[in-house]
Amino acid sequence: EILLNMGKAIDLIKESSNIFIASHINPDGDNIGSSLALALALKKINKNIVVLKSDIIPIDFTFLPGINLIKEYDDKLDDIDLFITLDCGDINRLGQNKILFENAKKTINIDHHISNTNFGDINIVDSKVTATGELIYYFIKQMEIEIDKDIATNIYTAISTDTGSFKYESVSSDTHRIIADLLDIGIDKSDININLYENMSFTRMKLFIKSLTTLETFNNGKIAVIEVTQEMLKETGASLEDSEGIVSFIKKLSTVEAACILKELEKEDIKISLRTKKYLDASYICNKFDGGGHKRAAGCTIYKGIKEAKELIVKSIQEAMKV
Ligand code: 5GP
Ligand code: MN
Ligand code: MN
Repeated sequence: EILLNMGKAIDLIKESSNIFIASHINPDGDNIGSSLALALALKKINKNIVVLKSDIIPIDFTFLPGINLIKEYDDKLDDIDLFITLDCGDINRLGQNKILFENAKKTINIDHHISNTNFGDINIVDSKVTATGELIYYFIKQMEIEIDKDIATNIYTAISTDTGSFKYESVSSDTHRIIADLLDIGIDKSDININLYENMSFTRMKLFIKSLTTLETFNNGKIAVIEVTQEMLKETGASLEDSEGIVSFIKKLSTVEAACILKELEKEDIKISLRTKKYLDASYICNKFDGGGHKRAAGCTIYKGIKEAKELIVKSIQEAMKV
């Protein structure tokens, strides 16, 4: 079915000239890497491509080839032949770009979230692949467009960042076969990895240090929770995007099954990221708060103060642990 839908999507792309690409708010490497890989590929077949900015781009990704293609769009709404969403589970996750999506003549949804609502005219959704970047790799191959070094760099970034550098259980032999091909194409993996993982500002390091001091555990260490508050951001000069990666650090605790970070966007607007190690379904837990994601990585927002939000999420994790 995925192959069939890819075929339909390719036909639609061939018929369209103005193509918009967008992904979810709070962009990550899969989101940005997949978007740029597809944009660079479609530019090779002379399509007019707009990659929509949904949010602030984390500094880690500014080295990516094609990053300057990402723009805010404030022109005509009636010019969108085709709108392709990538790595986006539902249309609300498009943020400010939702209105552009709704004005598009046709839409394609390419994603790997279990919680995906199949909102596109054509849906290429496979929750078994570890990153949308994998689907984009197959899609570009299917279009018979050559994957060059720039495209490969973006796909590598998409897959590496969505797999904790190829560690997560969703990583398959196919994942590694794709990566092998990208290496053969000639990407500079050392350079990519330094840019992605060893390029932290001192400000960001200070935020990590502060946030880690708030570590609390529950259920004999099975649940670990940390906070990032507005006050910490003020004290360190860091921004919310700088908190990316803290939650995976606390997941390293030997006792932990569920690691959770609460980020205070505003007083009663708490963004939660949840990571699980072996058996808990993170997506199921976050769904209860209208969020979503994957089995081992999910998120949601709780519109309460940070203390109350913490009680609510911990209680939900505890309940999920009982069954
Ligand atoms: P993160 O915790 O890194 O923001 O996101 C982890 C995973 O959960 C990602 O796949 C992300 O797309 C998804 N996710 C995070 N927050 C939300 C949310 O509020 N709603 C939905 N549907 N998915 C989310
Ligand atoms: Mn994502
Ligand atoms: Mn993803």
